[in-house]
Amino acid sequence: MQKFDVAIVGGGASGLACALTLKRKNKNISIVVIDACERLGKKLAATGNGQGNVSNTSVGPSNYHGGGAFFAAEVAVGNTMLPAELFNCIFTSDGEGRVYPSGRQASALIDSLLRELSDGVTFLNPVRVTDVAQGFTLKLSDGRALGAKKVVLACGGKAQKQFGTDGSSYGLARNFGHKLTELYPSLVQLKTDTAHIKTLKGIRADCLVTAARNGKELGSSRGDVIFTDYGVSGNAIFKISSLVAGLDGVTLNIGFLPDVSAEQIADDIKKKIALGYPRSELLSGTLHNQIGRAIIKRSGASPEEIAHTVKNFQLTVVGTLGFDYAQVTRGGIDCADIGQDMQSRLVKGLYLVGEYVDVDGDCGGYNLLWAFASGVRAAENIAEGL
Ligand SMILES: Cc1cc2nc3c(=O)[nH]c(=O)nc-3n(C[C@H](O)[C@H](O)[C@H](O)COP(=O)(O)OP(=O)(O)OC[C@H]3O[C@@H](n4cnc5c(N)ncnc54)[C@H](O)[C@@H]3O)c2cc1C
Repeated sequence: MQKFDVAIVGGGASGLACALTLKRKNKNISIVVIDACERLGKKLAATGNGQGNVSNTSVGPSNYHGGGAFFAAEVAVGNTMLPAELFNCIFTSDGEGRVYPSGRQASALIDSLLRELSDGVTFLNPVRVTDVAQGFTLKLSDGRALGAKKVVLACGGKAQKQFGTDGSSYGLARNFGHKLTELYPSLVQLKTDTAHIKTLKGIRADCLVTAARNGKELGSSRGDVIFTDYGVSGNAIFKISSLVAGLDGVTLNIGFLPDVSAEQIADDIKKKIALGYPRSELLSGTLHNQIGRAIIKRSGASPEEIAHTVKNFQLTVVGTLGFDYAQVTRGGIDCADIGQDMQSRLVKGLYLVGEYVDVDGDCGGYNLLWAFASGVRAAENIAEGL
């Protein structure tokens, strides 16, 4: 049986960051990275619409959720430019603080990692680790077995199984007694009641979206809303979906024209009435015609009531498109049993990093930042101990 100092299960963002840091710290450590996908870093290459939104210039505790949220923020806050240390390229940020490689090509990040890792690190893929036993013997789906002094579980979550992340790998940690919290799809399109949006399919608008439950506001987000046949999509919805993951009875208040007041809209409608516009055209030119008509259909007669509906177009959330469409998993391996060095408190030498654990971040680079930072944190601890 071939033996390594460190076996990393998962060649995604956290696993590759861990391997790179280990290698840079000590060239003599023998490392194997095992991944279920044909291509390493397949998900990383697809992030940020292929552009790789790897971090954010503004990071705080409110950007992270789950049992490890506070710890994640602590790890991430001092590390917002970590990608610049990991990858051999320049990074720039956009107006919303989202950090990208300046070439805006996520696949170049994998090339950079593999260039540095290919000399000295053993890669096994596509093959799955099906079991990790005490004393660290790893069983592989092709029948082979490997030995390792330290094991890093960097298996990702349950979102988008085409990237090798189907949720089946939580069992590897559970076999050691680690608990799994409830899992929900997050950063995902929302299914809503569709009675009032049937005519809006494919239309996009800049909106302020506020989620509420039992009259209590959960949070709001501004950006694109795209109306679909199942409900709503777009970046404002992705952001808000993280607040509604796992909750029922949530209502979305869609406020069109965030930079225009209800009074301005009512005044414009009054002018149109004076000019003899038919009721169905009272928002013509102010909003996309189809949106204007959908609003008028469900509002009272007065200009003030129509303006109020422009700012308060309500939809009831009835679900999400699920894990197959989600960018991230809410929930994961319980962080109560994981130390600040990312090492299991139950099994010495076992490390758990990235989306695999109960941490998820907002839309905007926070999930990759956590994946990289936790992978690096584990590597630093492993390198010290070997
Ligand atoms: C389409 C899409 C776009 C995204 N865009 C962004 C973005 O712009 N910014 C951002 O911050 N986040 C983004 N995310 C989220 C981000 O990609 C993930 O949170 C991050 O990749 C998690 O890193 P990870 O290393 O924990 O897991 P992953 O990157 O998912 O890697 C886990 C790896 O483990 C492998 N694996 C699993 N089980 C086994 C096993 N038993 N044996 C062997 N291998 C195994 C899988 O094949 C996979 O390659 C996006 C996600 C998606 C799906």
